[in-house]
Amino acid sequence: MKQFLLDLKGVSKSFRTADGAPRLVLEGVNFTLMEGEIVALLGKSGSGKSTLLRIMAGLLAADAGSVTYRGRAITAPVAGVSMVFQSFALFPWLTVQQNVELGLEAQGIASHERQERADSMLELMNLGGFGGALPRELSGGMRQRVGIARALVTNPDVLLMDEAFSALDVLTGETLRSDILELWDSGSIPTKGMLVVSHNIEEAVMMADRIIILASDPGRIRSEYLIEVARPRNADSAQVRGLIDEVYGLMTMRPVSAAATLAAASAHVHYRLPDTDVSRIEAVLHLLAAPPFNGRADLPKLADEAELPDEELFPTYEALGLLGLAQVEKGDISLTPLGQRFAEAGQTLRQEIFGQQLLTHVPLAARIRKDLEAEPSGTLKEEPFIALLEEALEADEAARTMEIAIEWGRYGEVFEYDFNAGVLKLPDEEPPEAPAS
Ligand code: ADP
Ligand code: MG
Repeated sequence: MKQFLLDLKGVSKSFRTADGAPRLVLEGVNFTLMEGEIVALLGKSGSGKSTLLRIMAGLLAADAGSVTYRGRAITAPVAGVSMVFQSFALFPWLTVQQNVELGLEAQGIASHERQERADSMLELMNLGGFGGALPRELSGGMRQRVGIARALVTNPDVLLMDEAFSALDVLTGETLRSDILELWDSGSIPTKGMLVVSHNIEEAVMMADRIIILASDPGRIRSEYLIEVARPRNADSAQVRGLIDEVYGLMTMRPVSAAATLAAASAHVHYRLPDTDVSRIEAVLHLLAAPPFNGRADLPKLADEAELPDEELFPTYEALGLLGLAQVEKGDISLTPLGQRFAEAGQTLRQEIFGQQLLTHVPLAARIRKDLEAEPSGTLKEEPFIALLEEALEADEAARTMEIAIEWGRYGEVFEYDFNAGVLKLPDEEPPEAPAS
């Protein structure tokens, strides 16, 4: 019988926000990693993917629920579980060889054995001959090879990869990914299970036996998808394209209850605005309006045309949905009649539509506008609004949400902003028409 490698039951985790209030990041997460499988974890930025991985790696304790590795509770880093970080996390003052040996030192392995194992792992990762180099002398792709070598040199049972390829250019990332899959599929590494966090749907479909999608605020497992296609997979085959399509659908699907939750969440002044800007919103909208799409597109096809990564496209789709300009459904996106008008309109009308939608659908923008109108000077400092956001968001997220609201608000002429003073103000009125006498 297949063994459970990792088993998580009812895992919850809160962090304290700047003002000390707890904020629930993960809630009731159940997850198992079985022997022999690669699982990909997808989810929006901020949905708690890294937090979940850090809990599994024993780097962070859950507040509630149980987390076990082969039946034993994880309370500290476990010898059998290794993690690869997006940022490589190499020590700059240590050589490649020393960085790789580090994990073995912690296990009390003798020097000559450390050296041999590091050597052969560097060889396996195509880094033979680079043992004496310092990380800064290597390219990003090679540095991440070192990060992976360091994780693999301990012969981990479980490998956790947190967006390990996303800091690399596309080609380098793909090469590294297929190298790892080859090691896995050929049995060259003893690793029995892998959990790969990604925000790239194609990457998840190419690698995983199973895909888990994490919903946000708080992070919960939303759906699960099995991929029963033998590896190596061909990214251009109709079968794989079809799977990518379906996972896109799952990522953007809003079951009735989720739609209600989104409507309720976005109805709140603290709603974390999707991290995108007006130029991306307009670009995607125009692409969607133009041939060959003419108002409706299959998301993967649109993504190919847009030449933007998923992590920029998804927040843009969310913004379009939030503003009532488009709707996403089962892997397709279509313009609403208003979105159609927007696409056809000239600059002035477009800004007007945008401003209207902003006031109707983004409570933060409406709140800023209302407070400005109530203020005799028509100007307000931005700090109180940021403080308001910090009641529910992390400081960096609050600042980012404010930046987005300001960028959108300026475009929609809902308010103006003085960058030097950090002051919001009502837009200059159109010169009033001369009164008829
Ligand atoms: P993801 O990896 O999916 O982008 P993270 O797990 O990094 O998400 O973060 C989830 C949420 O938890 C974010 O809102 C983030 O700001 C918050 N968070 C993560 N780590 C901490 C921490 N150490 N202290 C406070 N908040 C944190
Ligand atoms: Mg992360």
